[in-house]
Amino acid sequence: MNKILLCGNPNVGKSTIFNLLTKSNEHTGNWTGKTVDIACKKIKNTNFELIDLPGVYSLNSFSPEECVTRNYLLFEDYEKIIYVCDASNIEKSLLLLLQILEINNNVILCLNMVDELNKKNIVLDVKKLERILNIPCIMFSAKEKNGVNKLLDLLDDSYSSNYVFNYSLYLEEKIREISLLIKEPFNNKFICYKVLERDNNLIKEINDRYNINIIDDDVKKYLSAINSEFISDEISIKLNDLSNKISYKVIKRKSIKKLSFIDKLLSSKIFALPLFILLIFILFYLTIVLANYPGELLSYLFDKLELFLLNLSTYLNLPTIIYEPLIFGIYRVISFVISVMFPPLVIFFIFFTYMEESGILPRIAFNSDYLFNKCNCHGKQCLTMCTAIGCNACAVVGSRIIDSKKDRLISILTNSFIPCNGRIPMIIAITSMFFVNSNNKLLVSFIVTLFILFSIFISLLISYILSKTLLKGYNGFFILEMPDFKKVNILKILKLSIIDKSINILIKAIKVSIPAGLFIWILSNSFIHDISLFNALSNILDPISHLIGLDGVIVLAFFLGLPANEIVLPIIVMGYLGNSSLNSLIDNDTIKNILINNGWSFKTALSFILFSIMHFPCMTTLLTIKDEVGYKWMIYSFLIPFIVGVSILFILNIFI
Ligand code: GDP
Repeated sequence: MNKILLCGNPNVGKSTIFNLLTKSNEHTGNWTGKTVDIACKKIKNTNFELIDLPGVYSLNSFSPEECVTRNYLLFEDYEKIIYVCDASNIEKSLLLLLQILEINNNVILCLNMVDELNKKNIVLDVKKLERILNIPCIMFSAKEKNGVNKLLDLLDDSYSSNYVFNYSLYLEEKIREISLLIKEPFNNKFICYKVLERDNNLIKEINDRYNINIIDDDVKKYLSAINSEFISDEISIKLNDLSNKISYKVIKRKSIKKLSFIDKLLSSKIFALPLFILLIFILFYLTIVLANYPGELLSYLFDKLELFLLNLSTYLNLPTIIYEPLIFGIYRVISFVISVMFPPLVIFFIFFTYMEESGILPRIAFNSDYLFNKCNCHGKQCLTMCTAIGCNACAVVGSRIIDSKKDRLISILTNSFIPCNGRIPMIIAITSMFFVNSNNKLLVSFIVTLFILFSIFISLLISYILSKTLLKGYNGFFILEMPDFKKVNILKILKLSIIDKSINILIKAIKVSIPAGLFIWILSNSFIHDISLFNALSNILDPISHLIGLDGVIVLAFFLGLPANEIVLPIIVMGYLGNSSLNSLIDNDTIKNILINNGWSFKTALSFILFSIMHFPCMTTLLTIKDEVGYKWMIYSFLIPFIVGVSILFILNIFI
């Protein structure tokens, strides 16, 4: 049976079209983060089988979805491609389409969601688009089931498109030269420039599938004189440029609808940034005020449960070597993480998700574009920064929305300067203990907002420095559409914020708390000459740590907290208390007394917060960076914030 491929960006309606054409309703699409599956089913009343490929934004080797889609397009047998795009947002879709046309130009462009065009005041000149691309283009609405018959007719038609576009003379020359060196049939244009970009994943795929190493000695020698980053940027410029031009030619916007007052404020270049700052402030204020009550309740319950567990252990006659590490090690770290970190996490995410879903956050990101361009980085980095406030690892994955490799790397390398939800509760806690009266929640929120602004500033500064040094090159276009305000479904917000985000992060934190709690207990309870291993290690780190305004326990806690930042503060307190009880740890006043008794001052608190903003990313983020861009950049992403943090603290420590 002849195969027809269904491709496109995520969320353009591929699954809906798949179900419509195959008259099924079980398929719900391929979701990032889940297993990459390919759905196949016969198109009703035809001899074609429809293959729904994972939705992607490009054919790089950044993600499993991209690899699966690219491999299918390159190496499998099929008749035609139905390329689905959102008719009201074709610019974004054209990028991928242009890449696909380099592999196979037997494509039908299915302009889905045309029912949305009117609402968005957009007129699309399909005939012109057809002339430019030289492929059949049809207006389609999966929602209203419009265009199905025309699409089915086109499947039977035979046509041949001759759409070709050229890169710069230099790149075309390189592609031609390398195509003479690479063995047939692997010397097509797409593979050639992927080899020039050193796409090792694709090279390995060809090796695995056909047992052919296309990188022989001649190719290797040729590549040694090629700057692959430059080639990547050049391709990115060309594709962006072309999709911009095409969409400019075929899209006309009807008179712009009247903006509401809020809309005007958020769309204004002057107010966008102050509003963003105000929103961050409100976000923290609500988080700080509301998190108190569930936090106290949880700590009370954990205290009671601990007493019960201790009594149970005594009743069961368990040896201390069993129950002490379990209760004083693992249980206490977990209970600390849950009662101190979880309530602010949930409350923060509810408001944060609301801002994301309603379109407020993307709108502000859109309007802050000029600031990012001034710092030589990509406008979309603003979005990944916002995501980082939630979770740095999610933001690293999210940076896939940036097409240019250089801009994407800048976004990844500077991402951990933005404190995530593992660090924010600790910044809030230390701020309210050392800087202002903890009862003055407005002032606490104000100071925390200042710290976040500092983190944004330092992240932009390092982005700028990277763009001028390690990652010199082209600055990509910002092709994010100005999003509309949407009515939000509160149940969806609660599900996304509590189940998808908070619980996920909590599970991750608990998973790392178990070995970390045990490990720290062992370090605190194993002795060499009457001194615990923990103290021995912290004593070694002590002199160097004082140079940056900290002490050995704090620095050791940051290293031991590498699995998750949530556990840094409990480790510090455990470290100071050594073998003794952590019973009333949850109470902020008690923690403050423990810290002060161990030499903490205003300066230590300030250095601690700055170091929590500027140190290495957590393990999950580092592993995510390795998966996304490889070991080399993972090491850079560890070193850059760490070196910046140590240097700034060292200088600060000299002056205050
Ligand atoms: P996929 O990720 O490309 O498979 O996209 P889906 O099929 O899951 O669709 C994404 C969203 O777009 C869903 O909420 C669909 O209901 C919606 N959708 C799909 N086709 C249309 C359409 O023609 N018009 C409108 N307005 N919405 C559509």
